[in-house]
Amino acid sequence: MAEEKQEEQGLKCPICGKKLDDNFFEYHCDDCGFKVHHVISGTKIEDDELEKILAGEVSPVHEFTSPKTGNVFKAKLTLSANKREVKFVFDWDSGLKCPKCGKKILESGRGFSCEGGDFKCWKNTRGAEISREELKKALEGQSDELDFVGKGSGKPYKGRLVLNEAKDGLEFKFAERKSEDTGLKCPHCGKKILETDKGFFCEDRDFKCWKSTRGAEISREELQKILEGQGDELDFVGKSSGKPYKGRLVLNEAKDGLDFEFADKKDGLSGSELTDIARDGGSGAGEGQ
Ligand SMILES: [Zn+2]
Ligand SMILES: [Zn+2]
Ligand SMILES: [Zn+2]
Repeated sequence: MAEEKQEEQGLKCPICGKKLDDNFFEYHCDDCGFKVHHVISGTKIEDDELEKILAGEVSPVHEFTSPKTGNVFKAKLTLSANKREVKFVFDWDSGLKCPKCGKKILESGRGFSCEGGDFKCWKNTRGAEISREELKKALEGQSDELDFVGKGSGKPYKGRLVLNEAKDGLEFKFAERKSEDTGLKCPHCGKKILETDKGFFCEDRDFKCWKSTRGAEISREELQKILEGQGDELDFVGKSSGKPYKGRLVLNEAKDGLDFEFADKKDGLSGSELTDIARDGGSGAGEGQ
């Protein structure tokens, strides 16, 4: 069925203008290396349409099937800027509104962007695929826990995506960094105290307190009592001695953390233990949130 007769009518190479060869599954130009498949991601593109695409027009919408994922997607086709390939054009209204300016967020093959140009989010972020649904949840502050891969380390980890402060993109949050408003006010600046897995901290980071201090667990309720100067007597364990002892936590002088106060100052604790405790109670939140 192959008639090798070269007709003047055939499709022309968009780069050099030479007639394209047809080997039944693709058109190609031997001179330039240009090629285009008859069937693109499961969809047959007819010659008359292809001719217009090669001439620089954008095709009507087609439905395609990703050979990698099997996902069905809609797109137009057009010639790439360097004319070397026919590429998809995704300019679909995602149905989402830009958190910054309220205009439409458009979806492309690689990501999402505001038609006003002030919001952007890649579909593949640190190994996690961000779907339209996932973006919607993230913009609503309801992101699912996603699996990411460390850029340098290659290690997998879990996290969420949230709208960044500038509202022009998403920002990554470690799953364990999920923080909750405790309803308590920072004794230093009056802003919110947030609770994480590991402790309590002011949203301005000028007050910090670990949940676990010297073997004693500090609950939200306990922290409230402490901030009100009504801290309960708690059971602690000496760091070096391993001995149990009782004490209270009180707000320190700098109001940026808690200090330890012995229930019985004649309890026979050594000077080094005192230093340990001061370190735990006072500066016990250098990192960790
Ligand atoms: Zn050519
Ligand atoms: Zn916008
Ligand atoms: Zn504060």
